[in-house]
Amino acid sequence: MLGNPEKPGPASLPDRAFTRDRLGRPMRDLRISVMDRCNFRCPYCMPRETFHERYRFLKASQRLSFEEITRVARLCVGLGVRKLRLTGGEPLLRSGLAELVAELSMIEGGEDIALTTNGILLAQHAAELKGNGLHRVTVSLDTLDEAVFERMSGGYGGLHQVLEGITAALEAGLSPVKVNAVVKRGVNDHTVLSLVERFRGTPVIVRLIEYMDVGTRNSWKPEDVVPSAELLRRVRERWPLTPTAGRTQGEVAERYVFDDGAGEIGFISSVTAPFCGDCSRARLSSDGAFYTCLFASQGTDLRSPLRAGASDNDLLALLRGDWSRRVDRYSELRDAGGVVEHPLPKVEMNYIGG
Ligand code: SF4
Repeated sequence: MLGNPEKPGPASLPDRAFTRDRLGRPMRDLRISVMDRCNFRCPYCMPRETFHERYRFLKASQRLSFEEITRVARLCVGLGVRKLRLTGGEPLLRSGLAELVAELSMIEGGEDIALTTNGILLAQHAAELKGNGLHRVTVSLDTLDEAVFERMSGGYGGLHQVLEGITAALEAGLSPVKVNAVVKRGVNDHTVLSLVERFRGTPVIVRLIEYMDVGTRNSWKPEDVVPSAELLRRVRERWPLTPTAGRTQGEVAERYVFDDGAGEIGFISSVTAPFCGDCSRARLSSDGAFYTCLFASQGTDLRSPLRAGASDNDLLALLRGDWSRRVDRYSELRDAGGVVEHPLPKVEMNYIGG
């Protein structure tokens, strides 16, 4: 059971039990968007101009119920998934989320439940989520500069609430607690060192993320990217670092430790050092579409068969079929030739989570 380290998870499944895609990559991670709404309007994800007051988000009935989510998760665990991550939009806007965590923690064979949140509501929920089986949390926090924070959250404040949320997560025993910071040149890159300094010497792991062309709304330009190599140099000039052992399979961050023992830092380089080669991440949108890549244009509708009485075998055939046909490697293609032409618009990040 996910919450029960005594019961060994899929890790103990023989290799052949993992469903693999055309490039031999197993499906090990399922990222579940439980909510398409958010209480921020980060320009690189949900720019206010598009996601304005009259924007039509999903109705509650259009979102998968906790029962439907748990069923899909259980089937995916049977196909080899061992890590479940709850995302959004902002997942803590989904009421009763702790109940879903409790359901997911009962799935036989899983190993890990994580949450990605903007942290604004975390202080209120951390203890209950932990109590129901959540293991760890990643907080999206791009800067500690109040003015830049307001700009990067689309005019919303609350930096202190996010910091309170991180403290509450640590106090609740969620571990590890990570901070993900998307770095955009000329916007927040000048505030990166103060963010790193703030969490050095604490259990919180900061990860600096290269700004990506997710979705279709953030007017991404390569010149706005600060390559991880440059960020690494900046951090190193201030604090000597040593790389930890290479990335573990499916992991996205290049990890380093501070030589003075003040903890760890990570760099996520989807643009300049893509990691599609061992990408094991599948995604479930809040309205039940199954995606095999963050930059995909199309997903497979699971909600209709779920609500039409499909059997587990029917659903497994859809999931296994999709994954085994998978050849996604968008970031590598982007890296090789610049912008990749997409027949259809890429799916928006608020819809399938990061
Ligand atoms: S671009 Fe797609 S295939 Fe590559 S790492 Fe990201 S999600 Fe995986």
